Amino acid sequence: MFSLCFVRVIYTLFCSFCGLHLKIKKADNSVITSKFYSILATIQHEKALREYILRKTKWMRRTFDRVDCNAHHSAFKKLTVFQKISTTKLIHNLANTNRQNYLYYSASPLCPRCLIKEETFEHVLICDHLPTA
Ligand SMILES: [Zn+2]
Repeated sequence: MFSLCFVRVIYTLFCSFCGLHLKIKKADNSVITSKFYSILATIQHEKALREYILRKTKWMRRTFDRVDCNAHHSAFKKLTVFQKISTTKLIHNLANTNRQNYLYYSASPLCPRCLIKEETFEHVLICDHLPTA
């Protein structure tokens, strides 16, 4: 997986089969010598993906640009499969809460710890009640 930070790429052509000369450079002018397909696929989809993320998160472009994609990628690839799944759910606001359970299954929307507030993702992060045994 290549992060969106890699997409600021300057490239000229190079192909040993057809004689075209292609050099792909990152923004820091280092030449990319492998994983062309992944890099080109990232370039092809970057704009649509960026627009989707901005629309979904309601971020300003400046906020998006401040995300250190390389650091995220480095940390993410060190996680176990299960940690990646949980982290992805948290990042994309897909973690299941009782609010969702209430909407879909008519279960109690209350936080299982405090039993006072509706369990939303935001509440999970701030609830200071200890878990019940
Ligand atoms: Zn709570």
